Amino acid sequence: MTGFLFDNSYARLPEVFFRTCEPTPVAAPALIRFNHALAAQLGYQGDADDAELLAQIFSGNQLLAGSRPIATAYAGHQFGGFNPRLGDGRAVLLGEVVTADGQRRDIQLKGAGRTPFSRGGDGRSPLGPVLREYLVSEAMHALGVATTRALAAVTTGERVYRDKPLPGAILTRVAASHIRVGTFQFFASQRDIDSLKALADHVIERHFAGISGHAQPYLALLQQVVQKQAELIAHWMSLGFIHGVMNTDNVLVSGETIDYGPCAFMDSFHPETVFSSIDAGGRYAYQMQPAVGQWNMARFAETLLPLIAADQDQAVEQATAVIRDFVGIYDAAWLRCFRAKLGLRAVQSDDRQLIEDLLDLMAQHSVDFTLLFRSLQDAVLAPQQAVQTLALFHGASAWQGWAARWSQRLELEQQTPEQIAAGLRGINPAVIPRNHRIEQAIQAASEGQDFSDFQRLNRILSSPFLVTDEDAQWMGPPQPSEKVCKTFCGT
Ligand code: AMP
Ligand code: MG
Repeated sequence: MTGFLFDNSYARLPEVFFRTCEPTPVAAPALIRFNHALAAQLGYQGDADDAELLAQIFSGNQLLAGSRPIATAYAGHQFGGFNPRLGDGRAVLLGEVVTADGQRRDIQLKGAGRTPFSRGGDGRSPLGPVLREYLVSEAMHALGVATTRALAAVTTGERVYRDKPLPGAILTRVAASHIRVGTFQFFASQRDIDSLKALADHVIERHFAGISGHAQPYLALLQQVVQKQAELIAHWMSLGFIHGVMNTDNVLVSGETIDYGPCAFMDSFHPETVFSSIDAGGRYAYQMQPAVGQWNMARFAETLLPLIAADQDQAVEQATAVIRDFVGIYDAAWLRCFRAKLGLRAVQSDDRQLIEDLLDLMAQHSVDFTLLFRSLQDAVLAPQQAVQTLALFHGASAWQGWAARWSQRLELEQQTPEQIAAGLRGINPAVIPRNHRIEQAIQAASEGQDFSDFQRLNRILSSPFLVTDEDAQWMGPPQPSEKVCKTFCGT
């Protein structure tokens, strides 16, 4: 057998949830990269070194036995405006597999051709967004963030036409599921309560089996999704990650990060940073992410109201209380993440102030987010004399003033400075997917068919806490001439 042992639970839902839709074959597929470790987890059977066969399979040219290709229906708020009919316009779900440890995973081709939801689009993807998603989603996974993953990337041998002709490509995305807040909105906006209930029951069984016997399962579902979302966004914030397009169709109820279109990691820290070319108003700026996350959860709650209680006033009251809890869950998760980044395990009441004051200083001095936190593993041994950290600030006094407070605070810890330093090595990454390197890799691949930077980036980012000096050097902040200020949606 070649392929996977498919078990397609979503395709067993009523027909209103999706449309049957096969990938459109491409002219000359060629494999860019295959994720062997992930393939093994998914139970891939077949010759994982047969690049030609893999290119046929992960371009959609060759359909695997047991696959039941569909495009899923969803709606969504995009930049605040509601669109009742989106759906997978350029993605085809090949099917689901259950891993050896019992986890269900979607396998989806992105860029596989037109679907019934394509509207005016061509259903294709240029190479750039495919490489970006591969790099960033796999980097996020290596950083320990809940995320969709990349199983394969292929070029199609065809051109796609945007403002200019570009090489086409297809990404194979793996996710716990592709069920979005927007999937719930699709049925809620049509007042299709039966389908809404079927969807909610499917999600509970698939992602939150623990609440199936709950007295109020749909309220508990809201609680679970709110908690996952609040913790996910806190995790993003602790890495300087900006999602860039937090529309409700890009929010998975499983709590995984999805859609790596206009995302980016910050270099020098500023809370108002925005990269996305389509986000002129700064709706999805770094510091807005928790508030937007809560707003998205309120939209999710609205869809569940008919299921939560027969009395709608009562449903609103109960759902509102859960949405209010987002703030407390987020704040606690944020504090947990940033305490850990400073080597603090004990809990002290003024820790939040200490962290916020550091972030303020970093913003004032345009300090590189990743380098600063990484430097703390050495700084912890002698905070006042921390050469690498000091070099990130203009003048010594700003850092030294804060370092004196940190130093006092570290004395309340039960660990030696050496132990704290060792712990920090696994918490603050040495490297993140810097935008200028991603752009460089995309350009070399798109214009010169040279994938060496892409492959090198993948290799380095697969172990972000452990890199050689040479790799760390290459992964440093951009020179002024290398800075990338805008990222683009993957369309
Ligand atoms: P995205 O920006 O990928 O989140 O897509 C937003 C919406 O536009 C979704 O409904 C997509 O399926 C659809 N879409 C994006 N790009 C294309 C394309 N090239 N062809 C067809 N539909 C697309
Ligand atoms: Mg999207």
